[in-house]
Amino acid sequence: MIKETINKLNSELPSTVELVAVSKFHPFDAIEEAYRAGQRIFAESRPQELLAKVKRLEELRSERGEPEYMADVQWHFIGHLQTNKLKMVLPYVSLVQSVDSLRLLDAIQTWAAANERVVNVLLEPHVAAEQTKQGFMPEEIYSILEAASGRSPEGSAEMLPYDSICFRGIMGMATFTDEEAVIRSDFLALRSIFDQCRIRFPSMAPDFTELSIGMSDDYPLAIEYGSTMVRIGSMIFGSRI
Ligand SMILES: *Cc1c(COP(=O)(O)O)cnc(C)c1O
Repeated sequence: MIKETINKLNSELPSTVELVAVSKFHPFDAIEEAYRAGQRIFAESRPQELLAKVKRLEELRSERGEPEYMADVQWHFIGHLQTNKLKMVLPYVSLVQSVDSLRLLDAIQTWAAANERVVNVLLEPHVAAEQTKQGFMPEEIYSILEAASGRSPEGSAEMLPYDSICFRGIMGMATFTDEEAVIRSDFLALRSIFDQCRIRFPSMAPDFTELSIGMSDDYPLAIEYGSTMVRIGSMIFGSRI
């Protein structure tokens, strides 16, 4: 079932759209099955669970006597990340998709500089109607990119240089609703922010290429709005326990 769904998605998704398999709440066995079907990028939303899976893979490698087992697997982080959990996540992920506050961004910059790493991030704007959702206002995103591109006007609020962060794009979620018009308008808003970033900060555009929108229920719509990365969980792995 996992294999069939991955094959189907791979044949259906345009070649410009990366499939990210959201494995949260599913056991490592399910990840291995998806890996055998060719899937390489997996996303987790809780630090504890990501770390457990990373450790499980290390165990499997030593049990099997194959240090290279699943060596090309990549982990993305897609959940709300508290600054005190950074150390559990940043060493293991190739992309943090869910950077939703300046406080988190600053903490990532500080960690990355101290550890001589560059961390790939997506910035998460707030567009969905839900009150509880975290995320940046579009203007905050433009200020961050302005600081990162070294164009901060004098006298602006102090910002870090973000020289240990690689800004790769935008991640977003549409409002949780069945109303297609609402989902479309959220995706359009996310797409516009993404386009604005690339237009206003051309020096960052070569890296700033990802628009991560679309989940199991709405990915076909997201693709219409220019998604380059879909994050699909329940469609591949079944409903979460
Ligand atoms: C859980 C989750 C997904 C996957 O959702 P499905 O509906 O299971 O495909 C995608 N993105 C984020 C941020 C998530 O937390």
